[in-house]
Amino acid sequence: MSTTPRVVIIGAGIVGANLADELTARGWDRVTVVDQGPLPLTGGSTSHAPGLVFQTNASKTMTAFASYTVEKLTGIDVDGAWCFNQVGGLEIATTPERLADLHRKQGWATSWGVESQVVDVDECVRLHPLVDRDRILGGLHIPSDGLAKASRAVVALARRAEARGARFQGSTRVTGIEQTGGRVTGVRTPDGVIPADVVVSCAGFWGQELGAMVGMDVPLLPLAHQFVWTGQVPELVGRNDELSEASLPILRHQDQDLYYRERADRLGIGSYAHRPMPVDLRELPQGDGVRESSMPSMLPFTEEDFAPAWEQSQLLLPSLRTSKIDNGFNGVFSFTPDGGPLIGESRDVAGFWIAEAVWVTHSAGVGRAVAQLLVDGRSEVDLHGCDVHRFEDVQLAPEYVSETSQQNFVEVYDVIHPLQPRLSPRDLRVSPFHTRQQELGAVFLEAAGWERPHWYEANAHLVDELPAEWVPRERDAWAGQFWSPIAAAEAWKTRTAVALYDMTPLKRLEVSGPGALALLQRLTTGEMDKSVGSVTYTLALDEAGGIRSDLTVARLGEQLFQIGANGPLDHDLLLREAPDDGSVQVRDVTGGTCCIGLWGPRARDLVQRVSADDFTNDGLKYFRAKRARIGGVPVTAMRLSYVGELGWEIYTSADNGQRLWDVLWRAGQDLGVVAAGRAAFNSLRLEKGYRAWGHDMTTEHDPYEAGLGFAVRRQKQADFVGREALAGRGDDTVSRRLSCLTIDDGCSVVLGHEPVFVDGRPAGYVTSAAFGHTVGRPIAYAWLPASTTVGTGVEIEYFGTRIPATVTAEPLVDPGMTRLRG
Ligand SMILES: Cc1cc2nc3c(=O)[nH]c(=O)nc-3n(C[C@H](O)[C@H](O)[C@H](O)COP(=O)(O)OP(=O)(O)OC[C@H]3O[C@@H](n4cnc5c(N)ncnc54)[C@H](O)[C@@H]3O)c2cc1C
Repeated sequence: MSTTPRVVIIGAGIVGANLADELTARGWDRVTVVDQGPLPLTGGSTSHAPGLVFQTNASKTMTAFASYTVEKLTGIDVDGAWCFNQVGGLEIATTPERLADLHRKQGWATSWGVESQVVDVDECVRLHPLVDRDRILGGLHIPSDGLAKASRAVVALARRAEARGARFQGSTRVTGIEQTGGRVTGVRTPDGVIPADVVVSCAGFWGQELGAMVGMDVPLLPLAHQFVWTGQVPELVGRNDELSEASLPILRHQDQDLYYRERADRLGIGSYAHRPMPVDLRELPQGDGVRESSMPSMLPFTEEDFAPAWEQSQLLLPSLRTSKIDNGFNGVFSFTPDGGPLIGESRDVAGFWIAEAVWVTHSAGVGRAVAQLLVDGRSEVDLHGCDVHRFEDVQLAPEYVSETSQQNFVEVYDVIHPLQPRLSPRDLRVSPFHTRQQELGAVFLEAAGWERPHWYEANAHLVDELPAEWVPRERDAWAGQFWSPIAAAEAWKTRTAVALYDMTPLKRLEVSGPGALALLQRLTTGEMDKSVGSVTYTLALDEAGGIRSDLTVARLGEQLFQIGANGPLDHDLLLREAPDDGSVQVRDVTGGTCCIGLWGPRARDLVQRVSADDFTNDGLKYFRAKRARIGGVPVTAMRLSYVGELGWEIYTSADNGQRLWDVLWRAGQDLGVVAAGRAAFNSLRLEKGYRAWGHDMTTEHDPYEAGLGFAVRRQKQADFVGREALAGRGDDTVSRRLSCLTIDDGCSVVLGHEPVFVDGRPAGYVTSAAFGHTVGRPIAYAWLPASTTVGTGVEIEYFGTRIPATVTAEPLVDPGMTRLRG
């Protein structure tokens, strides 16, 4: 008899069915899938999903999910009927901006390994003869995209899972989650409890309701989205037989927020061009015994909302002028604050997982990832952008979820610059320096709810003072957005005088108690058992040696550590891993504290004017921390710098923040102190070769590949997660490497995610990039084969143009560390 865990999956849509298939494929055969609706058409979003699968996405992970969906659904059928029809995908441009963006998108496709071409008008019309050639400028063709028959795929996947032991049970509503001692024990239904060791909610847009049963925030919003089927389109008659349904590529007209698919001699049209229509779950018909006509996910069609979409469709596809709308509906599915799916386990009720806000497009990839998490403890694909615990507390407020999810609906097809901040809600979180920053004309962008200065208009006059070699080059219109030459002046001042950086938004965690040391020893690659006052740059790995995070750990007391972390996922990790005997406390202290990075060759001169404490080299050595007073303000100073200059991260409590800023600001005036923003910061950090987790490396990379082998203490006594996996690996064994590139023409700035070509073939992709003001050249970090050694010429593709670059030894600035240690 099987001894694998008993799993209950809530929801028999495309996600639940994929998960059942993936789990049973891994030998977990005690799987029960329950759904409130009848099988196989449950009334959820999958029941009527038109199933367009456009794979290419700015996110590598989302593209990988989609590519796996294509691969998997291509290989299954129901009694010979297809589940995936690989008709290809065509995204057309009707504006020059869109055409340019399609080139950028083609770059993503190349970076993530999806074959694609930007094609001219003739080719667009050859591929899709219904398109009016006079309205378009070109398109992006992805031959491997296509149509998923989601409801049929559910049947195929269910059959396969059932053959391996799974059970599917319809018309069974889950009304509660049973738990004992913080662990899930089953799901409650009107017919009784179904026992379970693991419960996975794949409840789609009902996700919040299920999450609430265990007190878990599930930040998604159900929204209605219009879809219609046309009547017969004369030009399509006779093109397709009943079985194949479609042969024209799926089509996107993103300039008008529209998409199209063929079905026999009709077209399906989906529109995001209408007002966002949030849906209140309480107003939907209950799932029991639903018929197609009253599916909870199909709301009545509001014709007036579709009128502009129909007009635009007839312009793009003139054949529609002789057709009509046969039927339509407002279909419901999930949107989230950042557009990503929601995957993860409840922190309070072990064994309760969710996999929600997932498109058909990504469903097989998500199913595989969740199965890997459950069976192997880790997914082969990086999940940080999908983890339900990625959000800050303020981002879980219903008002925030509602507004940002609606905005995502509105912007779903927009051309979005990577730095483009949301316009609302803003000013959610401000540092204690905010008033001063406003006075200095800070240009704020937003991240994790924080207002973060990117540069200060008050520094504009410095641009005229820049020495010739620091004068920034002109940027192209795209790279010039959300950028200012003032950043060059702020970088210059940091390297030649002194600057204040607001580091407050960086997550700070406090780990304390008798078990704190042991916990950190186990979770990190560094030696944590050092003297009080030591600071260690270290890595948190997963069991396979993948980088979960990079952390800066300061030992402030025998049992007290402050951790500079990357975000909520680090907090989540520590909370989960802390023993439950009360020997460790983990607190997020970010909001109650603040931090100024005081950096530059004159930083010591400045701080010594306002502090009686010893900030000399001996008084506070590199990578040491101590308590001090600056202008009377009690602070913790840490001698480190992301920008590669002498100086300290100076922490204090939030109430003292403004005074700290004022003290440093006043004392530094004749030393040339400036306030400097993220734009300068990012440039300086890349010149110094400092990696940004989530951009440059993730769980998909090990420390040696990422150039972070120095942070792994092999001789450490204590065992740590990932150690075993690293055995036998080292700098010399890697097959790929995070590499530093400089751009040969000295002026072309790329922004990230662009493909890199070696010997004319795609070989990797850019992770982070900036203009290096000190070195007078643009810099890009990229994943490349290890054989691409220093001095090798490569090409970066940027909007369809190849830009020559060279693999360069790093760091580009101060490799001898004299500035930092000076
Ligand atoms: C009009 C429209 C067009 C779309 N077009 C596309 C497209 O072209 N491409 C694409 O990739 N995606 C598309 N989508 C999105 C896609 O359909 C969904 O994201 C996807 O189907 C979600 O799958 P799911 O399994 O998570 O959810 P669902 O299919 O909704 O399944 C969730 C299931 O959970 C069940 N459930 C909920 N609560 C309970 C409970 N308490 N007890 C028991 N069972 C419960 C429900 O009955 C439901 O069957 C479209 C969506 C709509 C509405």
